[in-house]
Amino acid sequence: MNVLILGSGGREHTLAYKIAQSSSCKSLYVAPGNAGTAQCSTNLELDILNFEEVAQAVKKNQIDMLIVGPEAPLVEGIKDYFDDRSEFSYLKIVGPSKYGALLEGSKERAKEFMKAHNVPTAAYQSFDKESLEAGKVFLTTMKPPYVLKADGLAGGKGVLILSSLKEAQDELGNMLTNNKFGKASEKVVIEEFLKGIELSVFVLTDGKHYLTLPNAKDYKRIGEGDTGLNTGGMGAISPVPFADDAFMKKVDEKVVKPSIDGLNKESIDYTGFLFIGLMKVGDEPFVVEYNVRLGDPETEVVIPRIKNDLLDLLSKTCEGSISKLELGIDPRYASTVMLVSGGYPEAYEKGKVITGLEEIKNTEDLFICHAGTKSKNDQVITNGGRVIAVTAFDDNFQAALQTAYKNVENINFDKKYFRRDLGQDLV
Ligand code: ATP
Repeated sequence: MNVLILGSGGREHTLAYKIAQSSSCKSLYVAPGNAGTAQCSTNLELDILNFEEVAQAVKKNQIDMLIVGPEAPLVEGIKDYFDDRSEFSYLKIVGPSKYGALLEGSKERAKEFMKAHNVPTAAYQSFDKESLEAGKVFLTTMKPPYVLKADGLAGGKGVLILSSLKEAQDELGNMLTNNKFGKASEKVVIEEFLKGIELSVFVLTDGKHYLTLPNAKDYKRIGEGDTGLNTGGMGAISPVPFADDAFMKKVDEKVVKPSIDGLNKESIDYTGFLFIGLMKVGDEPFVVEYNVRLGDPETEVVIPRIKNDLLDLLSKTCEGSISKLELGIDPRYASTVMLVSGGYPEAYEKGKVITGLEEIKNTEDLFICHAGTKSKNDQVITNGGRVIAVTAFDDNFQAALQTAYKNVENINFDKKYFRRDLGQDLV
């Protein structure tokens, strides 16, 4: 089978690394990829939001399966683009339709879906420019802190959590009338604040049946002690130590099953990953968000723990025979530490030479994953904010973290930064 993965981060390198191990994988391509994907596949220079270009690459390389890594092409309708062209009717696509992707592309739509299918989530109401005054009144009925969410995609920055009513009312005005987040905040969801601990659950589905993949916890803030700006993710641990069997059973019954039943009842064309962001409030799960693809860096700890042949798993999902599959999960913990460019998530420099990579070999216990890297003159250089994810596996997450941190010391580039406190909140 010839496979094309779209994307260029750690998520895509992890998927490529795992798929390259499949006996049914003939040729593997990643577009645009990074220096890591170049080691286990062929990188293709393409604009993944230009579907004509993607289609040409699919034809030229006789691609049988297209795996869409990030959300943007899904929200823009890449699945529908191929489905509308009969010449691609053979193509297996891992990723939902444009309508399915609205579960991530519109927070209002996600909340309506949860409400319709009895999926537990924070109470909410949504507002637009015309209903701004009603929104300000609604805020007076809420208790602080106030949670304001831009409806559309805002690169993880569209959620404001504010302690004062006045500030919340002003920001609501800024979002709805002053284009604070551009088109994304033409509508705003105001919701009840949930106090608890966050975790993520990953599901592979054909829209009717599903397999629950390993869960994970990520570390979003740049600073130690969970301080400072939000990032794409500074590390992750799987499985989540506080998500015991009883809690996960509740998640399955109250969240995952009703969500998939909802897709089925609404006849939503959905083949691929569903990433459910949860808040554990007391012992109860509440959905904070749906994402219609895998997370990064969660992929680095989730996918390597799956023992099945990933290509076979995805192939059967596309064929609608997922219910016949059984997952094999590595019982060990996986912990990832993300190395980032100094300055990230604000301004940072690119093009720094990365040393130490060649001396480290990937083993059963260690996976060095590339995120923002590229090759130049036989060297690997930094090419993004998040640069390398070091993942280690062991019987407990502390031991896994220790191995990851040991290897982090051997990978260097100018202004390298990473969080040294991962997992400390879990002991
Ligand atoms: P991401 O960066 O994960 O894509 P996003 O912009 O899609 O984020 P959400 O995941 O809905 O937005 O919210 C971002 C973060 O804000 C959550 O991870 C959580 O920490 C916090 N948050 C969101 N909603 C609530 C809530 N109702 N109560 C408490 N915290 C919340």
